Amino acid sequence: MFDLNASETKFAILVVRQACRLVKLIQAEMVTPALTKEDRSPVTVADFASQALVGKMLEEAFPNDSLVGEEDSTALRQPAERQTLDQVTYFISRLFPQSDPEKVCTWIDRGGADPARRFWTLDPIDGTKGFLRGDQYAIALALIVDGRVQLGVLGCPNLVDGYQFELSGPGSLGVAVRGAGAWIGSLEDGVEVQARLNVSGQSDPGRARLLRSFESGHTNLSQIDQFAEALGVQAEAVRMDSQAKYLVLAAGRGEIYLRLLSPRQPDYKEKIWDQAAGSLLVEEAGGRVSDLHGKSLDFTAGRQLLNNRGLLASNAHLHPAAMHALRTIQA
Ligand code: AMP
Ligand code: MG
Repeated sequence: MFDLNASETKFAILVVRQACRLVKLIQAEMVTPALTKEDRSPVTVADFASQALVGKMLEEAFPNDSLVGEEDSTALRQPAERQTLDQVTYFISRLFPQSDPEKVCTWIDRGGADPARRFWTLDPIDGTKGFLRGDQYAIALALIVDGRVQLGVLGCPNLVDGYQFELSGPGSLGVAVRGAGAWIGSLEDGVEVQARLNVSGQSDPGRARLLRSFESGHTNLSQIDQFAEALGVQAEAVRMDSQAKYLVLAAGRGEIYLRLLSPRQPDYKEKIWDQAAGSLLVEEAGGRVSDLHGKSLDFTAGRQLLNNRGLLASNAHLHPAAMHALRTIQA
């Protein structure tokens, strides 16, 4: 239905690149060594600013399309949050000088829609803890039509060539179009995205590279060990924040990405904006994505993947063996 030259694809690439530039600016100006561990204000400002930018640009490019974003302006409109709103407005004004706090809130709230027949879904900053730590994070935008992800764009400012960590490098941009393929490029404007993404051909479980959340609370550490043992994986799992893991997998730099359920939140349901763009990247790069029971991800159930449990993404070759290992450990 779409291709790399479709106006939707070009829009998504442009807006994700701009949003990455904006949040990098906020990070550079607000994340200082003096920041206390509890102070989440840079990520709060960056989250809202990123969603406001995408909301505004979507309104201009596709006024009839709705946006399902992670944020809404309710908290931001409280008097106690006035300073945060002013900071968001300040950063947005550097791109759009005619901005004011009311407009900023309206742009953010464009992301408050419920899923429709055709809609976009946005994670304005995925991996907020990585953003604050100076590790990996991503901006993820996807277009869903009739319950299927058709287009996914992922901006990873601290990832180079889809695998290497680099702060202040050109970053990586992953683009996937259903039925057409997946590509990787940089976050620099105007640079064509033309290198194809392909998953690894590794079929030996012993040599598989596992990818897992950096945050232990987002997964189950003892089950990861049991899984690795059941599958015969030798190497330690790679810890990484955000959907950057999907891009690493799509680029053939890892074989298996697991989201096991935290013992503290065994009923956790994945959010659509956390999985839409990245899962299409892996599928279009030749990989497979399912939940822990082997079911396809169901994007028709609202803002969450209510009909799925956890996640298993792989280079396809290792999917059956990984599913078998999951059954063995009863994850
Ligand atoms: P990651 O960096 O892979 O851990 O993914 C970050 C995403 O994990 C965030 O965007 C959250 O939406 C999501 N998340 C929050 N709590 C949990 C949880 N208990 N289990 C799994 N994912 C979670
Ligand atoms: Mg997220």
